[in-house]
Amino acid sequence: MEKLLISACLAGEKVRYNGQALPISEPLEEQLSSYFELVRCCPEVASGMPIPRASAEIIDGPASLVLEQKAKVKDNQGHDVTDAFVRGANMALQLCLSNNIRFALLAEGSPSCGSFLVYDGTFSGVKMQGRGVTAELLTQHGITVFNVNTIQEFIDQLPLVICNQSFINADFMK
Ligand code: SF4
Repeated sequence: MEKLLISACLAGEKVRYNGQALPISEPLEEQLSSYFELVRCCPEVASGMPIPRASAEIIDGPASLVLEQKAKVKDNQGHDVTDAFVRGANMALQLCLSNNIRFALLAEGSPSCGSFLVYDGTFSGVKMQGRGVTAELLTQHGITVFNVNTIQEFIDQLPLVICNQSFINADFMK
């Protein structure tokens, strides 16, 4: 069965900075589970960060520059947590590569998992277009990243593109 990486908090695990989960709806989980084996991952916890933990935002540049060590991730106490975020992103990537994972459903807005929006680095609650560090690294390696808003269109197309033994023809993604 094709595997799908899913943010652990979306799968119901209480791993967010505030100790809470961000679970997807039961119907969506049922739909996903009928097509995919779900592989849970929280890059921040995998990297050794505690639960709960201070909220963090990407400072002074997009996630691509964080990966190049030209921008940082800091928590709301001013601590530099860049290394932990990059380490977590690499652990998520290794999990994908070792499981031949081509698709990921990640939590929006997170400095790790956001795929379309992230907070703007001012800790003022303002979001801007951009990716989190993990979403950026996965995308750079050809893994298609969805959020809860974009996954439904993908799911709706699956019955048309699934071939034998749940192999998904990624051509339709082009
Ligand atoms: S790093 Fe990703 S999986 Fe972990 S709590 Fe944040 S959004 Fe959820």
